[in-house]
Amino acid sequence: MRKKIVAGNWKMNMDYNEGISLFSEIVNMVRDEKKGDQVAVICAPFIHLNSLAQLSSGVVKIGAQNCHQNESGAYTGEISAKMIKSTGSDYVIIGHSERRQYFAETDVLLSEKTTTALKHNLTPIFCIGETLDERNSGSYFQVIERQLTDGVFNLSAEDFSKIVLAYEPVWAIGTGLTATPEQAQDIHAFIRAKIESKYGVNIADDTTILYGGSCNAKNAPELFAQHDIDGGLIGGASLKSRDFTDIVKALNS
Ligand code: PEP
Repeated sequence: MRKKIVAGNWKMNMDYNEGISLFSEIVNMVRDEKKGDQVAVICAPFIHLNSLAQLSSGVVKIGAQNCHQNESGAYTGEISAKMIKSTGSDYVIIGHSERRQYFAETDVLLSEKTTTALKHNLTPIFCIGETLDERNSGSYFQVIERQLTDGVFNLSAEDFSKIVLAYEPVWAIGTGLTATPEQAQDIHAFIRAKIESKYGVNIADDTTILYGGSCNAKNAPELFAQHDIDGGLIGGASLKSRDFTDIVKALNS
């Protein structure tokens, strides 16, 4: 059975005290709403990871938003997967479109980061998705297939079964434009079919595929009700405890 996950991405928001106070609210609210083996995660800036892990009481898991592809060394300003793991974090976002766009991260680099994260027992939340131009030109299926092939299809079946995928159409991130449930389901089904061709039906069935892009408390129930959508990667709405908790609640739809 694949896991249902709602993961928040705080991006470059929340100073130290703001982060503690928002996270404490989230833990208190999510504790009452999360069912069974559903998973809630907050992916926070590096400064927060250790303190949030101490406050999480196992109710909300902690993730980072990036890691370096190398183990350690002279990479001033960078953070390694081992360091992230040592804070008590369990997840790391890899390949967010903002990293691809503003930091020129390529599929090949992201594949290296994924391998390193797995080596240190972090669960990569690997993001894929097309830009508006790619959607309008009709090339989005090829784009998604290339991101999968070059980014994660080099993994062994054992390693692939440990990752989470997030489909995030770039045109929907932070724009207020959401893919319709049908548009999102269409791509999620395509992604699952590609996984099935590569790794077989059991791994395809068990892979968690999140939707991200202006997902909020209002649209989450319909999105999460789609057969191949297993939760969400949430940007803006993860900065408000009530909104984030209501999205976690929508996992029950
Ligand atoms: C994101 O940054 O991953 C994201 C989905 O952002 P938003 O929810 O704000 O569109």
